[in-house]
Amino acid sequence: MGDSPRAPRSTGRKLKPSHIPWILAGSFAIGAALSGIISTITQWHDESPVSRPVFYDMPSAIKLLLYTTLPLTIAAVGYLYALRAANWGRGQPDRRAQTTKNVGRRLKAFRQGVYMRTLLRDSAAGLMHSLIYFPFLILFAVTNVLLIDEQMPRSLKFLHGDTYRAYVLVGDIAGVLFLVGIIWAILRRYVQRPARLRLKTRAEDGAILGTFLVIGLTGFLTEAIRIAVAGRPAFERWSVVGYPLSALFDGWGSLSTWHLASWIVHFGAFLAFLILLPTTKLRHAFTSPVNMYLADRDRPKGAMKPLPNLMETQLETFGANAIEDFTWKQLLDVDACTVCGRCTSVCPAHATGKPLDPREIVLKVGHVMAATSAGGPISPVVGQDADLTVSADSVFERISAEEIWACTSCKACDEICPVNIEILDKILDMRRYLSLMESNFPTELGNAYRSMENQSNPWGMNQAERADWAKAIPDDVPIVDGSGPFDHEYLY
Ligand code: SF4
Ligand code: SF4
Repeated sequence: MGDSPRAPRSTGRKLKPSHIPWILAGSFAIGAALSGIISTITQWHDESPVSRPVFYDMPSAIKLLLYTTLPLTIAAVGYLYALRAANWGRGQPDRRAQTTKNVGRRLKAFRQGVYMRTLLRDSAAGLMHSLIYFPFLILFAVTNVLLIDEQMPRSLKFLHGDTYRAYVLVGDIAGVLFLVGIIWAILRRYVQRPARLRLKTRAEDGAILGTFLVIGLTGFLTEAIRIAVAGRPAFERWSVVGYPLSALFDGWGSLSTWHLASWIVHFGAFLAFLILLPTTKLRHAFTSPVNMYLADRDRPKGAMKPLPNLMETQLETFGANAIEDFTWKQLLDVDACTVCGRCTSVCPAHATGKPLDPREIVLKVGHVMAATSAGGPISPVVGQDADLTVSADSVFERISAEEIWACTSCKACDEICPVNIEILDKILDMRRYLSLMESNFPTELGNAYRSMENQSNPWGMNQAERADWAKAIPDDVPIVDGSGPFDHEYLY
């Protein structure tokens, strides 16, 4: 529990973190549905010869399919994120309020998360992620620009002529970069296989990369067939990939059917991506920047949470055992993990064969949180083996005391983590629980604890002899006996 008793859960109507995904997803879902309704009613099409109809030669049932399944899927994404946020709410309070003092640092950390600057500490992995992330955002924007243009009255439409040429050029370049990033990621995970990825490669990694690959490939395929259906007009040469590819379809029959099939696969892959967002580690696309924004805290780096006065407190439990003993920020932390394994790669305990892997600590806390989820089922941070079960709300169902005591408290894991996860804090809270509630600590510590209790120092030295070491100091160095007024400078 750290430094505060388990707080009673608020039952008031104030805004909770779990409401935020609902609000965001609800807004996007309504926006998507409205854009379909408005464009169906208005039928404002761009008559310019250098432009593109949004649904081209597709039947109106396809338009209905898009504008019903897309809002529903976005709403489902909001629901699934809200379930996760409700689980963060199981945690104890942790003051992370924004103040005028910390807002600058917070925004800087948030920008680092959004721009993926911390990932670039590992230049190859950072570049690979950038090739996926930024082109994907551009492609997403490209699709939305097309839909926005469709809503515009004819006099306000802008996606034609040179604007259209530049638009398709940007889209194709982004598509190529995106595919380069995806293929690089596939080769890295399944061919190069660095240890920190190999150990945690799960079926969901294949699903994520496969979905991205299908989105990228069918994007170009759909574009190429559409250009072929249109008779390969010259202005489409600005589609620097789609136009040359369209030549491959010369002489094919039923091109409209192929176009429809390719578009359906492309759209289906996008819906799959939306569902993968909250249910797999892809969720970190949203949770990591939020976690980085909230990283700044009042407590100095490395300082443990203060304990209440044990002689006076009403608390019945100390440290962290159940999910409710962690703070809400520690639980959000868990969902921000990218499973990259950088913490593992720098952990001295792990490197010397101790039974500790900091990434596993994060994932195991996440597993217990998912297995004891409040409000509805959520997936663990990353897929767990089916034979690893959790039967009680206790992290020690998955984490052993040996793991917790193997930590040297060096904080290297926290320092390297690209998304500012506070791993050591969790370990120290679990260690506090083991010490204070279970008396479960290495035998070597027994003497130190007893000495601190009886002699106020871990070495068991007699209080009266503690200053004896100073007897060897030469006479010209003054020694303060502590009985008079103290006006000396000291370091610590
Ligand atoms: S603080 Fe503990 S878990 Fe983290 S790197 Fe150091 S020894 Fe490993
Ligand atoms: S805790 Fe941080 S460094 Fe470790 S696997 Fe998760 S994101 Fe990577």
